[in-house]
Amino acid sequence: MSPEFELIRRHFIRPMRGDALGPGDDCALVAPSPGCELAVTSDMLVSGTHFLPDTDPRRLGWKTLAVNLSDLAAMGATPRWVTLALSLPQVDDAWLAALSDGFFECAYIYGVDLIGGDTTRGPLTLCVTAFGEVAAGKALRRSGAQDGDDIWVSGQPGRAALGLADVLGRLRLKDACRDDYIAALEKPLPRVALGCALPGVASAAIDVSDGLLADLGHVAAASDLHAVVEDAALPWPALRAACDDEATVRRALLAGGDDYEVLFCAPRRAHDALRQLSESLSLPLNRIGAMCAGRAGDVSLIDAQGCELPIAHRGYDHFS
Ligand code: ADP
Ligand code: MG
Repeated sequence: MSPEFELIRRHFIRPMRGDALGPGDDCALVAPSPGCELAVTSDMLVSGTHFLPDTDPRRLGWKTLAVNLSDLAAMGATPRWVTLALSLPQVDDAWLAALSDGFFECAYIYGVDLIGGDTTRGPLTLCVTAFGEVAAGKALRRSGAQDGDDIWVSGQPGRAALGLADVLGRLRLKDACRDDYIAALEKPLPRVALGCALPGVASAAIDVSDGLLADLGHVAAASDLHAVVEDAALPWPALRAACDDEATVRRALLAGGDDYEVLFCAPRRAHDALRQLSESLSLPLNRIGAMCAGRAGDVSLIDAQGCELPIAHRGYDHFS
């Protein structure tokens, strides 16, 4: 066996739960369930850009997969299969074993099979392509929001940005929450169960990877609507308890990336169903504003009197 395939066998071939043809041939073979269409997404993590070179490899393996499952969740798709393309500067077996343990831990929890990939020498980069299933015509697109829909967000956006600021030594979070916030950055939980429950309830969705206001702007643009966020409805208290610097807290919640929460729109009549869903998933869901006609593509932040507040930062852009 070639050293390359031996490395793949050692670290990336595990028993599969489904009956797809997995690694070992020129292609994998998958059969989507009848009545479903495939949702397909790729996300690349580049050392030095998306993660610090000394990141714990187990958490890195988890995150590499989790960020892709988050995209499927935001489309309302159930994750099924993934491929993994790896570029490695050298072969470090202990590092690879930890990476693959984290990767497969995430794969088992969310029920996906690794069905193939590519392994090459080069600067450290990890790229996953994920395939999910969604009932034909039911996927949640960014363009589906309607005038008058409520805007909702899951969980606690802003934690990952505060965790990163702490890891980089820019601030020191309160001890009571420090580990949780760093885990939110390094081991995010993709909102798979929420995503699978949203088709038929929500009208549009996106996951928060680049910043809440920036990602909401994508929904506003695709739906030709004005997104109005009510400052008082945002989940501030936990972040304020974690960090005393109000400007940093505001930037983390409104513009911090990497949280992988789901931001979605839903009609007023879905309110009770969403409250129940939040309870059954033990996942906070907060209504943070509404979509309005006019000013297509704009995002505004308003105070309790309805006056617009200035927005200093919206999110992260790799090319700005
Ligand atoms: P080819 O040269 O035909 O593209 P490769 O030698 O690159 O094939 O890969 C051999 C097999 O191993 C393929 O089935 C491929 O999908 C799988 N594979 C390669 N790298 C990985 C990886 N990191 N994880 C899982 N499967 C992989
Ligand atoms: Mg190949």
